[in-house]
Amino acid sequence: MKLLRENVKFIIVHQSATKKIETSFEKIKKFHLYQGMGNIAYHYFIEASGRLRKGRNESTCGTHTKASQMNSKSLGICLAGEFNNEDPEPTQLKTLASLLNNLLTKYKISKDKVLGHREVYNSATECPGDSLNEWLVSWREQK
Ligand SMILES: [Zn+2]
Repeated sequence: MKLLRENVKFIIVHQSATKKIETSFEKIKKFHLYQGMGNIAYHYFIEASGRLRKGRNESTCGTHTKASQMNSKSLGICLAGEFNNEDPEPTQLKTLASLLNNLLTKYKISKDKVLGHREVYNSATECPGDSLNEWLVSWREQK
């Protein structure tokens, strides 16, 4: 499904829910292909090393957030990790902050439209884990 630029109103942040050190872009993509998603579910993926990997094209809907029909109005970013039990690497957060700033400018989105998956109305998930969601909350408060 096409995702028109003017329809991108939110950015949703996810965790892979697997130990960051054991998780690569290729591994998650393979898993999502196996599940029949046709591609990795996200537009961007940030590995434990902080390396940014490109998933879906930004002009294609993701399959990362069913709740509130978010897939048709958002981009999805996933960090390798299980953030109820481990913290994101500083280098992952550096990559995330810079990616978010670029996307906010490109799509003219304000910081309050960057949500953790669990913050999406009607979602029932732990994603993106406690420590990553706490980072998001404080990042949104920064000027
Ligand atoms: Zn998620």
